[in-house]
Amino acid sequence: MKQKKSAVLLIYTGGTIGMKESAGDGGLVPFDFAGILEEVPELRRFDLRIDHRTFDPLIDSSDIVPEIWCSIAEIIRDSYDRYDGFVVLHGTDTMAYSASALSFMLKGLAKPVVFTGSQLPIGSLRTDGRENLVSAVEIASAKGPDGRALVPEACIWFNSQLLRGNRSTKMNAVAFDAFRSPNYPVLAEAGISIRYNTPHILPLPPEGTELQINTSLDTRVAILKIHPGITPQVARNVLLGEGIRAVILETYGSGNAISKQWFIDIVKEAADSGRILLNVTQCPAGEVNMDLYATGKALKNAGVISGRDLTTEGALAKLFHLMGCNPLNDKVKELLQLPLRGEMS
Ligand code: ASP
Repeated sequence: MKQKKSAVLLIYTGGTIGMKESAGDGGLVPFDFAGILEEVPELRRFDLRIDHRTFDPLIDSSDIVPEIWCSIAEIIRDSYDRYDGFVVLHGTDTMAYSASALSFMLKGLAKPVVFTGSQLPIGSLRTDGRENLVSAVEIASAKGPDGRALVPEACIWFNSQLLRGNRSTKMNAVAFDAFRSPNYPVLAEAGISIRYNTPHILPLPPEGTELQINTSLDTRVAILKIHPGITPQVARNVLLGEGIRAVILETYGSGNAISKQWFIDIVKEAADSGRILLNVTQCPAGEVNMDLYATGKALKNAGVISGRDLTTEGALAKLFHLMGCNPLNDKVKELLQLPLRGEMS
């Protein structure tokens, strides 16, 4: 019996990758994905059915809101049985936030959800978009000898590297290698062929596991970046801000902040009010360890939770997800300390 052709769904949300020069004045206009196979004929070489869904309106990723994440999750859920994998074309500016969010929102995922984009429009001569798109499609359809997906997780493909979505961050505004996951090995790398780093890829869920999506996100989170000269007023406004349920403290080095009593008092007041306080480091690599220095210890004693080696993007997405699912802050605090989708070590 002839095997059913594998199929990949392209979900085009917007961003630079989908732009090309208009025939008229040469300005950049969004490209119509109905013509994807004419525009990127390399895709025909795959023995695949490639369908597409295009957001209307298209979204510059600076305008991404959690409702868009919910729409992406719903598209994946509603078409899950018809495709072997999904490629989400997305602007680079907030791609790490969206990939982090989807990693938490999709539970029991047994198929690849590969985010990609580009620094130069797909229609421009030196574009990185073609190679990013072609390889993302290859990864989205890649299967092991058992016929199951090689990469059953939400990830980012960019400049020949596959990164775990919730470990990634945009590190460079202009270079082709825009993304890194400093605290986690690459999941795959392209040379002549794509080499999968299987021991570091999330395991498949047991066969028959249903995909569940969570579209209930609680966004009452603030981020406080600690810096020299921060005033009590700024610290107070953020940590004790009205309607704020959780604060991510972006601290120095291995989780240190100001040791002055006024600061510790505000942190303590925020923790005592029941707010969830999560400590992540400002450093691109490494992790929080609040036992190392007195300043870190003071935060821990005041009730701050260690985010260990979470990225800020991962921390925000994890909080939105956990708070959306759990009305009790104590439960959220407990779950924050467990890795849910490989987001922390
Ligand atoms: N502003 C664009 C966006 O993030 C940039 C890009 O696609 O790289 O949507």
